[in-house]
Amino acid sequence: MITLKEALTKSKEEMVALRVELEAKAKASELNAYVGFESSGEGVPILIKDNIQVKDWSVTSASKILQGYIAPYEATAITNLKAHGMMAFGRANMDEFAMGSTTESSFYGPTKNPHGTDRVPGGSSGGSAAAVAAGIAIAALGSDTGGSIRQPAAYCGVVGMKPTYGRVSRFGLAAYASSLDQIGPIAQNVEDAAILYDAIKGHDAKDSTSAAFENEDIVSTLNPDVKLTIALIDNYISEADSDIQKAYAQTVEALKAAGHTIVHKNMQNTKYDIATYYILATAEAATNLARFDGVRYGIRAEAKNTEELFYNTRSEGFGEEVKRRILLGNFVLSSGYYDAYYVKAQKVRHLIRDEFNAIFEEADLILSPVAPSVAPKIGSIHSPLEMYKSDMYTIAINLAGLPAISLPVAKNEEGMPVGLQLIAKAFNEKTLFDGAASMEKAVKYQK
Ligand code: GLN
Repeated sequence: MITLKEALTKSKEEMVALRVELEAKAKASELNAYVGFESSGEGVPILIKDNIQVKDWSVTSASKILQGYIAPYEATAITNLKAHGMMAFGRANMDEFAMGSTTESSFYGPTKNPHGTDRVPGGSSGGSAAAVAAGIAIAALGSDTGGSIRQPAAYCGVVGMKPTYGRVSRFGLAAYASSLDQIGPIAQNVEDAAILYDAIKGHDAKDSTSAAFENEDIVSTLNPDVKLTIALIDNYISEADSDIQKAYAQTVEALKAAGHTIVHKNMQNTKYDIATYYILATAEAATNLARFDGVRYGIRAEAKNTEELFYNTRSEGFGEEVKRRILLGNFVLSSGYYDAYYVKAQKVRHLIRDEFNAIFEEADLILSPVAPSVAPKIGSIHSPLEMYKSDMYTIAINLAGLPAISLPVAKNEEGMPVGLQLIAKAFNEKTLFDGAASMEKAVKYQK
């Protein structure tokens, strides 16, 4: 597949032909990465996760409850990419309402990993990552609340980037956990990710949490020869399995050889990451998802009165994982438990952020695993807790609001990709992308 950079030099006609080719290939593929083939705008086709609104498109967050809903307005990220020679083409499969790590909770059925079709592509942006990896999308947009861009990118051997909270407008993104959600790029390489990030970022008055900081252009100054100080969190790595530890050790050597300085650190609060995230994310999700009641959006169940309408629509419309999170979120917000869980988790969130900031006093970037293993087999994760635990390396970055990028560094003996992430200080995407360009060059990943 041609890169985004190359595609941006092609003619309108060539892009139309490419769209036809992509659609045919995607329809013939067994991956189930696309859930729709709508197109909007002109230019290089970018695959859009099914929770980002493109005006007049169906947008469902891969949920039954949103079947039939048509977006009445456009996400700012889409408006921005259209202003940069790109267009929206196709809707990507995902976990229902972006809740999950495998894309198995989609109403449309699971997406498969192109590196092994009995494996999950990761999630929740699994359709976006699988399509880019399989050459049935040039690049894609995903969303990352607790790892949903970086982890599928790692499982599928592509690049995925989560911007600093506030960098990309959330206007038009279906809210999962509003204080954590960010839209970001999934691409074939670091340069393409930078092009897409540059296009979608920027202040937006329609999102009250959008940052009014200067948005420097990243791609024109991308510097793979930069020399940085990179921190390793030594007590963080032992929970990863041997495939990940091996790739991590090799990457550290490659980074040293490229002239970076490595420093060793420990973090004390990592043991609280999962509990903190799953309290705050579910509390916000329970609140955000209260609006799906059969009155304004999507499906409407049979009912004799209003209360029954809400009850039946939500019972029939939401999948199991979404219901679990609504229950959990309402529980931690209920009086009597609010202080013990929700308020406590907010305090711990500050401690987590402070600990990252202390490391950034002495280092430009942190290198970390993205997931504790390569992509698991479809159907192999049996308990919700097992799935939540696999988010251990990604969620703290969202709690702290930091930017991070996942890039493929190696394959294990079965040919499954291993991705590692670089994490930067808030609003320091420039250093993040320079470091990633350098790491990409140093590790020489073979697709
Ligand atoms: N796996 C995490 C969750 O289920 C993260 C999902 C995401 O980033 N949207 O909440």
